[in-house]
Amino acid sequence: MVDSIARKALLIAVAVALPPVLVVYLSTASGVARLASSVFGALLILVSWLLARSLARRINRLTDFADRLLDMSVPRPQLPASDDELGDLARSLSRMAPQLEELVNRLRNELTRREAILGSMTDGVLAVDARLNVTFCNNAFIKTVGNHGPAEGVPLIQIVRDPALFQIVKQVVDSGAEQRKRLQLSTPKMHSFDVHAVPLASTSSRGAIAIFHDVTPSERLDRIRRDFVANVSHEFRTPLATIRGYAETLLNGGLEDEDNRRKFVEIIFANGVRLSNIAADLLALSEIEGGRSEAEGGPISVGDVIRGAVGAIEPTASVAGVRVQCEEIPECYVFGHRTRFEQSIVNLIDNAVKFNKPNGEVRIQVFSESDDCIQIAISDTGTGIPQRDLTRIFERFYRVDKARSRQVGGTGLGLSIVKHAVEQMNGTVKAESQLGKGSRFTITLPRYTFPVAAA
Ligand code: ADP
Repeated sequence: MVDSIARKALLIAVAVALPPVLVVYLSTASGVARLASSVFGALLILVSWLLARSLARRINRLTDFADRLLDMSVPRPQLPASDDELGDLARSLSRMAPQLEELVNRLRNELTRREAILGSMTDGVLAVDARLNVTFCNNAFIKTVGNHGPAEGVPLIQIVRDPALFQIVKQVVDSGAEQRKRLQLSTPKMHSFDVHAVPLASTSSRGAIAIFHDVTPSERLDRIRRDFVANVSHEFRTPLATIRGYAETLLNGGLEDEDNRRKFVEIIFANGVRLSNIAADLLALSEIEGGRSEAEGGPISVGDVIRGAVGAIEPTASVAGVRVQCEEIPECYVFGHRTRFEQSIVNLIDNAVKFNKPNGEVRIQVFSESDDCIQIAISDTGTGIPQRDLTRIFERFYRVDKARSRQVGGTGLGLSIVKHAVEQMNGTVKAESQLGKGSRFTITLPRYTFPVAAA
């Protein structure tokens, strides 16, 4: 310790004691006087050095205590009590220690809480410093840009491949003004994000923090809604225009046209029926999608429903020259909303008849590949469905042959109703087909077993 207090005190004591001793030596030849002045000088130096060393030790202990104030892992030394100024400093440090400890604990808890919140957010969060190095990012952000190893401390340009995203963050850091933008990022599929970046000010430098909100699902919903409205208006427009046209014809003299007036009214009637069929199917679909029918669920006998549906369709089938064959149905039950289930089975048998050929056949089978599931298969020998359309026929208003569907009174909503109703019963529906040979629709549903009554 080159500059220690003890050393300095020793030098000062030597500097103070040495001149009087020298003066005594030079001014007198008395041995006693010389000895006395030497002893006095030595004592002065020794006492000064001892005092200074004790002071230095106490200061060292205070320094040691202050050094350990922020390190909670090591126990702090006990400070000696004394009544001088150093004692006051020791008491002040002892009072500060628990307050500081509490503050550090509070900050640590707050930091852990914030990290947990940011980490569990579904929105991506990214923070950078003034030099565009990443200081924080959560898992959602890593998912957005792809995992390129540890991100913190790494330059943003190495993590973000998208120049537009990099530019937004850079602009905020450079200008200090917030930015909002919609970006398309491949994550790895293309997703749309609303990015909101704001400056992050600290006393020394400016960084930025950006939030990435994935708007792909809401964009998709918007598109579905727009398509749906367009489809519905399109479906309504043709029958409405026909009704209007024929009504005008009747009003403008058609009523007197005895040969044709009945035909005109029949056309108006057929289009009216078509409109009400579309409205009924739309209502059914919205009820199923809204989940309103779930409350009325109960056990349903599969055999009862199939026999009822076959009975309802047989007259139409015999007019079309199609034979409906139902194999023996084992007694089994499913759970759900009966009307919707009936409607689904009727829709499938109805399609199998509608899209069949004269002298064609519809076959209905009920079987189970496992104890807890029931399969209902409806096969026909009809026109079949091209492979490319098979995945789309369950979409609303999707038809393979629009003209034929309209001609046979289809709304294009039948299979959507089937799909939604079956899914609501925790089941699935699949379609297989061979063009020109026929199609087979299979519904798979969980088997319902009645609870065993307690004895
Ligand atoms: P639609 O009211 O037109 O029958 P669906 O939603 O029930 O509407 O069916 C959609 C389309 O799927 C039909 O227009 C038809 O092109 C095709 N389709 C459905 N079932 C069959 C089937 N059994 N055979 C051939 N094509 C079918």
